[in-house]
Amino acid sequence: MKKIYLKKGRDESVRRFHPWVFSGAVAQTVGNPAEGDVVAVYSAEGEYLASGHWQIGSISVRILSFDGDPLSPTFWEDTLSAALAARKAMGLTDSAKTNCYRLVHGEGDGLPGLIIDYYDGVCVLQAHSVGMFRAKNQICEALQKIYGESLKAVYDKSSGTAPFKAGLELVDGYLWQAPGFEAKEQAVLENGHQFLVNWTEGQKTGFFLDQRENRALVERYARGRNVLNLFCYTGGFSVYALGGGAVHVDSVDSSAKAMAMVDRNVALNGFTPEQHGSYCADAIEFLAGVDEAKYDLIIVDPPAFAKHRGALRNALRAYQRLNARAIEKVAPGGFVFTFSCSQVVDKEDFALAVFSAAASTGRRVRILDRLNQPADHAVNIYHPEGEYLKGLLLYVE
Ligand code: SAH
Repeated sequence: MKKIYLKKGRDESVRRFHPWVFSGAVAQTVGNPAEGDVVAVYSAEGEYLASGHWQIGSISVRILSFDGDPLSPTFWEDTLSAALAARKAMGLTDSAKTNCYRLVHGEGDGLPGLIIDYYDGVCVLQAHSVGMFRAKNQICEALQKIYGESLKAVYDKSSGTAPFKAGLELVDGYLWQAPGFEAKEQAVLENGHQFLVNWTEGQKTGFFLDQRENRALVERYARGRNVLNLFCYTGGFSVYALGGGAVHVDSVDSSAKAMAMVDRNVALNGFTPEQHGSYCADAIEFLAGVDEAKYDLIIVDPPAFAKHRGALRNALRAYQRLNARAIEKVAPGGFVFTFSCSQVVDKEDFALAVFSAAASTGRRVRILDRLNQPADHAVNIYHPEGEYLKGLLLYVE
């Protein structure tokens, strides 16, 4: 196996199971590793520490194992079975009400650079590293073994995420399909609600599985309310709100494709067009035009405003402005469910932005709940950076 040696004293974070080796910690490489190769990591004193994918850039190795061999024939089957066992323990694999979940959440599952979402037998894989991209066929074979007959297809959707240099065209496509399986979308069940998921044309892997628990909370608070769902994508929160007895729900997203899916999802769950309004629009402009007190439950789930540290200040200002508008507009005694999925915006930053927003409106606001990503979007305790989704449930007097 190709090897790297760390600089003296730079082995501490690896010994504490942090899954990355930064380029500044590397003293020497042996065997001239190419990007995506599995390398063994040694301390300056020559002690074996871990093995992982070699990368070009500020992170040199993304660790796959601290005690095993990522090149062993059973590595993928073993690690994916462990991920599946964890989902089973979470009650996600044999639920009559939910048949979709995240099977692999990168570092959270000890597999940096890999995302696999499971949609009732269809696995959608996204490689965020060259090493994971190169391993995709082995991963696909392991998925066939761990799921057996219940697997319908494995779809690779890495073209937008695998960091290959420009010039190399990546094409998304099926790595495997069960005989006769031709669907490009299918309906999945989440907490008893049905959602069409189109993994080929949808955003990310097709559906935002990370809002499952927060949607259930919206359902609990929706009875008798007029609901506004901003940045609704395919209408996850909208369907739950209707299911929870909302009087009326308006859904807003700037993507026409997403809005077409919202209408289909609303109908699929048996709700009528009278109960629901669809608006393909900029959510911020839409909110600016909303009459005060028209809605008594507003959901604000924008895309990541900051994709890197450098964008943090502007992002916080954007969260503040958006939340100020939502708090200002919600009816007295109403709720605002507000989220940020920017990894670089931490809980405290976000709470501060929402606090400033509230203060600027002069309204009385209580925090009823602090919201998170669900268990299947696991956070590795040695890699707290894996925490990205945060939210607040506000009650506005
Ligand atoms: N709440 C959704 C996920 C939201 S993802 C769910 O539960 O599934 C963010 C969404 O914001 C995407 O659907 C994207 O199309 C939309 N979006 C991005 N910028 C927007 C804007 N300025 N106005 C409205 N929608 C926007």
